[in-house]
Amino acid sequence: MSSTRFDNMAMLVTNDPANEAGDGSPLGLIRDASMVIDADHVAWVGHQTHAPDADVLVDLDGQTVIPGFVDSHSHLVFGGDRAEEFAARMSGTPYSAGGIATTVAETRASDSGELRANARRLVAEMAASGTTTVEIKGGYGLTTDDEVRCQSIAHELTPESTFLGAHVVPPEFRDRRDDYVALVAGDMLDACAPNARWIDVFCDRGAFDVDEARLILGAGVAKGLLPRLHAHQLSRTGAVELGVALDAASVDHCNEMNADDLDVLASSSTVATVLPGADFSTRSRYADARRMIDAGVVVAIASDCNPGTSYTTSMPFCIAVAVREMSLTPAEALWSATAGGAKALRRDDIGVLAVGKRADFAVIAAPSYVHLAYRPGVALVSATWKSGSQMMRVPRSTTPRARY
Ligand SMILES: [Zn+2]
Repeated sequence: MSSTRFDNMAMLVTNDPANEAGDGSPLGLIRDASMVIDADHVAWVGHQTHAPDADVLVDLDGQTVIPGFVDSHSHLVFGGDRAEEFAARMSGTPYSAGGIATTVAETRASDSGELRANARRLVAEMAASGTTTVEIKGGYGLTTDDEVRCQSIAHELTPESTFLGAHVVPPEFRDRRDDYVALVAGDMLDACAPNARWIDVFCDRGAFDVDEARLILGAGVAKGLLPRLHAHQLSRTGAVELGVALDAASVDHCNEMNADDLDVLASSSTVATVLPGADFSTRSRYADARRMIDAGVVVAIASDCNPGTSYTTSMPFCIAVAVREMSLTPAEALWSATAGGAKALRRDDIGVLAVGKRADFAVIAAPSYVHLAYRPGVALVSATWKSGSQMMRVPRSTTPRARY
């Protein structure tokens, strides 16, 4: 295995406040930095003047390096799209959970090759915008056979795959929802669990209530899956409290929160994951991530990429919206999209660039990470590296190419 040294960074975000060359902030910023990677991990991080030799040198020519984005909430396995529903919503039709049924019908009608190709395309889009780890949920099949198909595709694409049989009650079970809950917590779970790390429930108005969520998540935990939850997007159901009681890694959305919810979260190890793309695309009131952070809650930012309510794969876009609409600082938003996402997946090997951690990072064609929010909508990621290998490299026209 050969080592590679990255030189001439304007700025390196490590998310390691303990790095002696850093500024001591949560981002652990190092200016005039170098980083050495060896095989799949980080071998050295510090000022360039002290950098050790390596087999290969890469001149980053004044760009910025950040930990790869950890997108801890996505729904990438689906058929069709819902552009018309989006257009109608922008014309005044309110969002409800029912639109999921449209995608369920299209997913059931798609063969596995189509579903796989679509999900792969979206993962490649994510890599192009700096994402190195993504969580992927099923939940658009809603029959045992279709969820097994979707779950196995999710599992092929990421170790962070999530069983979401409890996304909505499908139309054929409309008058016997208890039977559907029993199916999800029984045969469907049994069939999908081998290809899942996580179990999730859409616990909200129009989807599943807290008692149903408790039953389904409990069954998943008994099968060895780890719980996470869609909570308090449309209404304050008590899902946040349930998530904390189950030691869920994350409760996601969190639009409808009161002071008690924040207290419960702040004294737990459950992360609140906000989804700026979903609030943007449903024209909803933004989750109050500012208030969460001020209350001591650990906040993650994820894309929620799905065809109905947040069809973006771009974490830089989500950061820009979180800064503009949720009042996070650019530093807080970047931390939440990297280290925060890692916490929402209970991972300590990613989301930070320190010795021994995975060599997962993105190169930003800008002198500072602040440009991620300052230049919204601009494709600033020039390269993405995962486990020490380059996933994606975008030619740059305005500056010399990296010298190898
Ligand atoms: Zn979701």
